[in-house]
This record gives sequence, structure tokens and C-alpha cells, in this order.
Amino acid sequence: MKNLFILFLLSLSFTSTIISQNEETIDQIIKRSLIDSKGFSWLKELCEIGPRLSGSQNSIKAIKWAESKMKNLGFDSVWLQPVYVPHWERGKLEKAFISSSKKFINKTLTITAFGGSISTPKNGITGRIIEVHSLEEVSKLSDAKGKIIFYNRPFDNSLVSTMEAYGKAVDQRVNGAIEAAKVGAAAVLVRSIQSNFDNNPHTGVMKYAENVTKIPSAAISVIDADFLSDAIKEEPNLEVTIKLDCKTFDDALSYNVIGEIKGTEFPNDILVVGGHFDSLDKGCGAYDDGASCMQSIEAVELFKRLNLKPKRTLRTVLFINEENGLRGAIEYGKYSATSKENHIAAIEADRGAASPRGFYVTTDSLTFQKLQSWLPIMNKSKIDWIRKGSSGADVGQIKNAKALFGYVPDDQRYMDYHHSNNDVLSVVHPREMELGSASMAILLYLISENGL
Ligand SMILES: [Zn+2]
Repeated sequence: MKNLFILFLLSLSFTSTIISQNEETIDQIIKRSLIDSKGFSWLKELCEIGPRLSGSQNSIKAIKWAESKMKNLGFDSVWLQPVYVPHWERGKLEKAFISSSKKFINKTLTITAFGGSISTPKNGITGRIIEVHSLEEVSKLSDAKGKIIFYNRPFDNSLVSTMEAYGKAVDQRVNGAIEAAKVGAAAVLVRSIQSNFDNNPHTGVMKYAENVTKIPSAAISVIDADFLSDAIKEEPNLEVTIKLDCKTFDDALSYNVIGEIKGTEFPNDILVVGGHFDSLDKGCGAYDDGASCMQSIEAVELFKRLNLKPKRTLRTVLFINEENGLRGAIEYGKYSATSKENHIAAIEADRGAASPRGFYVTTDSLTFQKLQSWLPIMNKSKIDWIRKGSSGADVGQIKNAKALFGYVPDDQRYMDYHHSNNDVLSVVHPREMELGSASMAILLYLISENGL
């Protein structure tokens, strides 16, 4: 008991030392982020390039832009890490309508192909609609030949975490076409996975399996999903025609964009911060994950702006191809495993740009305790908690780091925007985004100064 008390007093004095030693710098980091709003102004430039689907010309334009941006900002070194990525294009034709019905004939349905889907034949695919709510339900269908399977299980709004609700609905999109093809269906429509109610269907990646026929697969907007569901209650035999024009090309050469500021005392100790630079081909990928990429640049650049000399090397990594392959992260993971550098920590930002909440971390229990003692000072930028949890798909590939962090802003609106035409600059709030840049810069600063 006595020992525990001494430990408690020690941790209190450690916490107050951390606060008194770093308070001024941390206040400066927050002030400069909010006043200058540079990360947001870079996001504006990035959004002018447009969406950045892996393998697209736009993605290469954005990569070159980020490379020269980091060079112009005075990073000590900036380089591109080559990697081959999938290359799929949506095409121009994306249409669905009710083609056989007494009451609803020619009613248009708003759809959008899932990334990786095959096209339909030129005249489209026409079939009767079968509404289902799970993959299991599909596997039990006895008469699905030539039909269109309509997955209509909604986003579970009973869950507080939108990430969790998304995770529970996304199997319909990812594996829906495989299960439908196994029972002979001709195509798939999936209720758009989102928490709001509009007519902008959300795309996302889908899968095919070896030895299972590939069939086209598309999202249908939530408004039209409700309409279709009601319509087939009235007319169970109504038919829908779908026309898609997508195409998969050979893998294309692409790059992770990497920039760093060298550490003054321990240059071989690396602290990574990053997001994924590819987006889906909707909106401009502002929220998913352009803003986080700009925050990752800014979290490091703030050290230059404030003339802070980090003891350890700070490295921004913009990973390519998270959405449909993770090839960039895998490539960086291979590099980190074989390089002579010492990856101490990595922070991933891929949960949108709303107001900061906390950090998830995977690390040992001693380091976890140390991080908890930093919370009072991290709270200055609205970081309320550090919890054990997954960092994210990209930095998760850095297997040898002592601590992997996932930056967590408020997630209530994330699913309304991502993967859709809603994902544009105007949904990013400059102050909330800048507080995120500051939160990550503060964490980098504390690790760089104190180690882990
Ligand atoms: Zn993302």
C-alpha cells in the first residue's frame, strides 16, 4: 500500500514536471495551428486537384503536389516510395431504372458502382429484385437465377460508434456479390452504408472470389432503397435494369509521399504520422482522408514554424492505396522492417477531421501508463482520453514500433461524407481540423522530447 502511494506521488510529480516544462510550447502549437489555419489552406489546394483514386492520373498529380508542398515548407528531406497499385475506373455510364412495372415504370434509381466491380453488358442487366438483409439469407435462396439481389440491411443507428455501425453493415458491400453469384444472381444492389438520409449513394471497395462468377455490384441511395423496398411490396415481380461501364486495368505505378525533419539528438529514432493519400473517386476526398493527410504534414511542419528542434526524427508518410489494396502501407511496412532505423511510434489519422476526442494505442503497459500521465497537458487541444485500441490499417503495417496510435476525432458525421459526393471541402471545419493537427503535433513533441 505504501509503495503504491509512493508510486502515485511520483507519477503526480512527473505529470506536473511534464506540464511545467512543456506548457508554453504546447500553447504555442495550439495557437499557431488555430491562427494560421495552414493545414486547411493546403486542403483547399488539394481539393482543387479532385479525387485521388489509386492508379488515376489525378492521384499522381496530387502526389507531385504533396512532394513539392513538403519541399517548399522546408522539410529536411522529401522522397517518393514507389509501389504498384490497382487501377479501376468507373466509366461514364451508371444507370438504374424500373423497367417492368404497372405503377413505377421508368422510375430512375440513383446508384453508384462499387470500386472493383465489373461492368454490365452494353444493354445492361435486367432482372427481378429479391430483397434480403444478410449474406446468410442469400445463401438459403433457392430461386435466384438471373435475379438482382438487393441487400437492404440499414446502418445500425442504435450504436453510439458510427465506426462500429459501419463495420456491422459493410459485409453486404464487400462480400455481397460473391454470395449472390453463388446462388446464380445476375447483379447486386446494396443499400448505401451511411448514417444520414440523402440521395448520394456511397461507394467503397468490393471483392470477388476465385472460381465464383463475377457479377456487377453497386450501391443504391438510401432514399431509393426505401422506395424500392416499398415498391416491391406492392409489385413483387417488378424488374430493374442496371447499366454500368466500369473497367479494371493493369496495376499502375504509384507512390507513398514521405517527408521528414531530422532529429537533433536521436536522428535514427523515427516518429511517423500519416494518413492515406488515395481517396475514392467521389467528391474530392476531403474528409477521407485528405484532411488527415494535411494534418499529418502540419503536425511536423509546426516544428519548423515554431523553430522547435525535435530530438527525434519526425516523418510524415502519405500512404497510397488504403481504400482498395493497402499496397502503400505494406510497402512502407517492409521498409520499416528492414531499414536500420528505429521506429519508435506511429500515428494514423483516418477518421475524419472533426473535433479531437482521443487516441487509441497499442503498446506495452508501462508505456501506456506513461502516456496516461501526459493526458492533462494533451487535454489542452481537447484530447480527453488515451485508450488501448487499434491504430489503423496503414501504420498497423509498421510491426516493430513501440507504440502505434490512432487519432480519434468525433465520428458522428464521418459516415455521412466518406466515399460519396458529400466528401468535399465544405464539410471540413477549419478550427476542428486545426485542433487535430495540434493534437498530433503535441503527441509528437512529447514523444520526441521524452522518449517512450
Ligand atoms: Zn479512409
